[in-house]
Amino acid sequence: MAFNIKDIRQEFPVLEQTVYGRPLVYLDNAATTQKPLQVIEAIRGYYSTVNSNVHRGVHYLSQEATSEFEDARRTVQHFIHAGNADEIIFTKGTTESINLVACSFGRKYISPGDEIIISSLEHHSNIVPWQMLCQEKGAFLRVIPIDDNERLIMEKYREMINERTRLVAVTHVSNALGTVMPVKEIIDTAHAHAVPVLVDGAQAVAHLKVDVQDMDCDFYCFSAHKMYGPMGSGVLYGKEKLLEDMPPYQGGGEMIKAVTFEKTLYNDLPYKFEAGTPNVASVIGFKAAVDFINRIGFKDIISYERNVYRYAEETLAGIEGVRIFGKGDDKVCVISFLIGAIHPYDAGSILDKLGVAVRTGHHCAQPLMDLCSIPGTVRASLGIYNTKEEIDILKEAIMQVKKMFM
Ligand code: PMP
Repeated sequence: MAFNIKDIRQEFPVLEQTVYGRPLVYLDNAATTQKPLQVIEAIRGYYSTVNSNVHRGVHYLSQEATSEFEDARRTVQHFIHAGNADEIIFTKGTTESINLVACSFGRKYISPGDEIIISSLEHHSNIVPWQMLCQEKGAFLRVIPIDDNERLIMEKYREMINERTRLVAVTHVSNALGTVMPVKEIIDTAHAHAVPVLVDGAQAVAHLKVDVQDMDCDFYCFSAHKMYGPMGSGVLYGKEKLLEDMPPYQGGGEMIKAVTFEKTLYNDLPYKFEAGTPNVASVIGFKAAVDFINRIGFKDIISYERNVYRYAEETLAGIEGVRIFGKGDDKVCVISFLIGAIHPYDAGSILDKLGVAVRTGHHCAQPLMDLCSIPGTVRASLGIYNTKEEIDILKEAIMQVKKMFM
């Protein structure tokens, strides 16, 4: 498909509106992306014609719902190039995917004195579940430090990993700064010590072509709502052998083969990890979102987004008093900045009144903000529908903020 930004924007009804009498400039895509008609229609279509519980009924609708649900699983499998559809576990989202691994892998493999390594750039979702696990098991959380440019200090990581390390859990792309992490190097180093690696892909899947086999990660987690899909569904990818050996996460319907009061025989993958009724409509919408991304194609997505991103970085860097966090070329779609000494909340509130939606605060990465000695930042994050004209509007709005506060 030839990339046409006008056509793409028309697929997103939300973008057509004005807020406070100004055209909406939506730059909060790292929090959640907007949904194209294809996704909205898929959900409407599901509830209008198919709605039924999956994997249970012999009747027509239940079989249709099951077939669409499993089709979505295969679509996601191909999207991240997993070797097998059984390696795709549907969850509520990234947070649940990480908690699933912390609870299940953690229950079986973490003992007192063991160590889990994370990085300084993690979202709270990839910190707190490991902290909870370490507390419960008497294990230790180790954190890869960053340098003055907010880049990981890889020598420290290589020194940190040892015979007590049981897992490494890192983000693929930092939600707070947009930095792409050297995941391949992190994984190769961990594997040299026979340590598995979980990658939090929440901020990566919409912007980079992910190939879990090539990356060789052991777990990969992401949410549909950050890739133009609905809220309420996400994925845990795990290597089959690891998932096979892990105990179930939650007990209930669907995850069993047979139950007596004495004992339960668990179901095969992926159902062993999908207790209870899943969010079927969300998963159907998730598939439509993957179809949407595939229709555009990563070649065009990457080149278009890089172009707008570079323009945004240059434009913001050119404004006197603007300080951008997270240096380096390997960044995608997120620009975190401060305007002089203006509190991010004040800046964000004025930007909002000018029609520009950005996020302000610690971005669920409080330890990183502490390391940078700041309370938070203003974060502009891009999606496939953002344009250079919108960056110009952002710039004008920042100039207004400066006029008011500086
Ligand atoms: N990890 C990262 C890097 C994120 O950006 C987010 C969402 N901001 C999450 C995890 C959590 O995702 P969710 O809220 O969809 O579970």
